[in-house]
This record gives sequence, structure tokens and C-alpha cells, in this order.
Amino acid sequence: MIITLKKKKLTFLQKIYIFEVVRGLMITMGHLIRNLTHPSRMMTVNFPEETKPIPKTHRSEHRLMLRPDGSIRCTACMLCQTVCPAYCIHIEAAEGAIPEKEKYPKAFTIDLLRCVYCGYCVEACPCDAIRMDTGKLVDACYKREDFIKDIDYLKANHPKGLNPISEAIY
Ligand code: SF4
Ligand code: SF4
Repeated sequence: MIITLKKKKLTFLQKIYIFEVVRGLMITMGHLIRNLTHPSRMMTVNFPEETKPIPKTHRSEHRLMLRPDGSIRCTACMLCQTVCPAYCIHIEAAEGAIPEKEKYPKAFTIDLLRCVYCGYCVEACPCDAIRMDTGKLVDACYKREDFIKDIDYLKANHPKGLNPISEAIY
């Protein structure tokens, strides 16, 4: 369906533009004065010195959870790697201390350049071994390889105030 819009007729004051330019400048000045007199109501922050609080539900950088004995919770079941729509998780499994009981990840990497932060890996994990609650946004890096986070980084990626131990019973 074709919709034809009627062109709005400009008034004389709008046609000479000066009045509209002055009106635009007054709006800009109004915002400037409001920001100077009420800095707390400003929409922008002085990043990176200041940052806005990140909501608790925000999905941020991953971390691998630990058991109370300090060992990694991940059992290398590959569910997160399988469900990941961006194919950015790579796990290499190895036999644990009790081979007939469980495996553990010898290598666990996440390519944050490919990750779409969907959170499927967290949802799929059957043992609360991976979380995306660090509140850390991806840092700027010079090399692509620096965005690939390995198991040592993920195991230690527990910002201050977050417990690295998961109390899940499974
Ligand atoms: S958040 Fe989504 S895209 Fe990123 S690693 Fe997890 S499953 Fe893959
Ligand atoms: S993080 Fe969870 S889903 Fe992924 S391999 Fe480990 S146990 Fe399985």
C-alpha cells in the first residue's frame, strides 16, 4: 500500500529560518543550563572515570565456579559447548581423579569476540559451573587472541564481593 504524505506548509517565520535557528539554540542552552545546575540528572557520565551501575540481571563476562574444596565444578559434559549458537566455547575433556565417576575440563576457552551474550551456556549447565554475573564488560584489546579467555582466566574471574564457590548440591 502506498501512503502519500501531505507536505506541511511552512509559515513565514519558518521560511526565513532565523526564528527556528534561535529556537534551536534556546533548547540547547536550556539543556546546558539544566545540566550545569543539576549534574546528577545528566544523561551522560564521565566514562571511564565514572560508570553507570550495571543491573544484576545483566549478562556479563563468564566465570567458572568452584567446589568447596577449590576444584572446578565443570564436569566437561559439553552441554554449553553444544548449545552455544556462536560456537565460541571450546572444551577439552580429561579423566578426573576417579575416572569412572567424572571428567574435568583440561582446556576451556571462550572467544568473547564471537559470544553474543545469550546466556544459553549458563541455562544449559546442569551443575552451576558457569555464570555470567561478573558485571565485567569486555575490555578493549589490541589483538584478537586477547579476547579468547582460557580456563585459568575463567577460574579466577571472580570480582570482589562474588563468591567463587557454588553451594549447589549436584
Ligand atoms: S553467552 Fe551464548 S554465545 Fe556466549 S558463550 Fe554462552 S552460549 Fe555461547
Ligand atoms: S560448564 Fe557446565 S555445561 Fe559446560 S561443560 Fe562444564 S558442566 Fe557442562
